[in-house]
Amino acid sequence: MSHEVALMGDMLNLVAEDMQKRGLSKVKKLKLRVGTFSHSVPDALEMAFEIHKAMKAPILTEESTLEIEVEEARARCVICGHEYVPDHRVALCPNCGVPGGKLIAGDAIRILSYEGV
Ligand SMILES: [Zn+2]
Repeated sequence: MSHEVALMGDMLNLVAEDMQKRGLSKVKKLKLRVGTFSHSVPDALEMAFEIHKAMKAPILTEESTLEIEVEEARARCVICGHEYVPDHRVALCPNCGVPGGKLIAGDAIRILSYEGV
C-alpha cells in the first residue's frame, strides 16, 4: 500500500509539472493504464489516489477522479517469436514450450491522459 501511495505521488508530481507548463492548476480526471503484470492492482491505486486527496495534494480536489484501464500482459517467445498471453511470469510458450518469454505489454503503469482546469 505505501508503495502505491509513493507511486501515485510520483505520478501526481509529473502531472503537476505538466499542468504548470499549460497554466492549469487542478486535475479533473486522471487516466492510468495498469498492466496485469505490474506490481500494483487497480484497487490499491484507487486507494492511494483517495489518500492523496485526503492529504490535500495541491493539484487534487474533492471532485478529482481516477480512471484505470487494465492492460493485459503479453509475452513474446525468445525462441520462436510467438506472442501469447502469459498466465504467470514464467509461462511456457504455447507454440514451442520454452519458458521465459519476454514481456512486451502489461508490465507497467502509465499515465494515459489527464483533464485539468
Ligand atoms: Zn516459442
